[in-house]
Amino acid sequence: MKYLIANWKMNHTVAQGIEYLKEYQSLQPKISKTKVLIAPSYTSFFPLSQIIQKETIPVSLCAQNICEFKRGAYTGEVSAEMIQEIGCKYVLLGHSERRHLFHESNESINKKYQMALDYSLIPIICFGETLPVYQTKKTVSYITEQLLFLKGEKPPIFAYEPVWSIGSGLIPRIDEIETIVDFMKQNFPASSLLYGGSVNPETIQSIAKIEGLDGFLVGGASLQAVTFIKLLSSFENPGNDR
Ligand code: PEP
Repeated sequence: MKYLIANWKMNHTVAQGIEYLKEYQSLQPKISKTKVLIAPSYTSFFPLSQIIQKETIPVSLCAQNICEFKRGAYTGEVSAEMIQEIGCKYVLLGHSERRHLFHESNESINKKYQMALDYSLIPIICFGETLPVYQTKKTVSYITEQLLFLKGEKPPIFAYEPVWSIGSGLIPRIDEIETIVDFMKQNFPASSLLYGGSVNPETIQSIAKIEGLDGFLVGGASLQAVTFIKLLSSFENPGNDR
């Protein structure tokens, strides 16, 4: 399965999200092999899922995070059960902004992973090295450590997102991404692997050709429906420059 995921982060109100979906639908993207997911804010889930159902828009919703605890006195948190209840099937776990801005540890991400499985959510596990790690060529040992808690597990989807690439306009060389693809295929042969970090209609062209890569997690370039559809078109037809 191939995936293209729009991570809206803390952007788009309900009204803006609805406009986005209407525009997306009116542009009639041609999709033959890609599963398209949109990760909006929690407040948009219910209204967007209604529009998706009513207009039969071929996208699924994805949560940006869940709480590591089941329920109780955790002010400001949203549980896996609550996400499952509204019909959402996917959840991003361990996004670098969660790790670095909100100090999420591998231990906490592991608890969230188990919680996602308990509520039949499909976790998309994000991982990736920081700039100093990249500069000192320690990426593989760093991500080995990050993913240690998944030893013996078979997570369905991973997203490799170098921290220094997110939102910066910088991307790793193709051979560097290929090294991570090979590493992941050796260690998690049954899992899908996505790339994320400054993907836009230009950068996607060469990355989409990497064998073994199953899709993209996109932040900035997913915020406008028209740009996101360009990415979709490039991904579906890697030789097409539009
Ligand atoms: C992200 O935050 O998941 C991401 C990949 O962001 P951007 O595409 O803006 O680099």
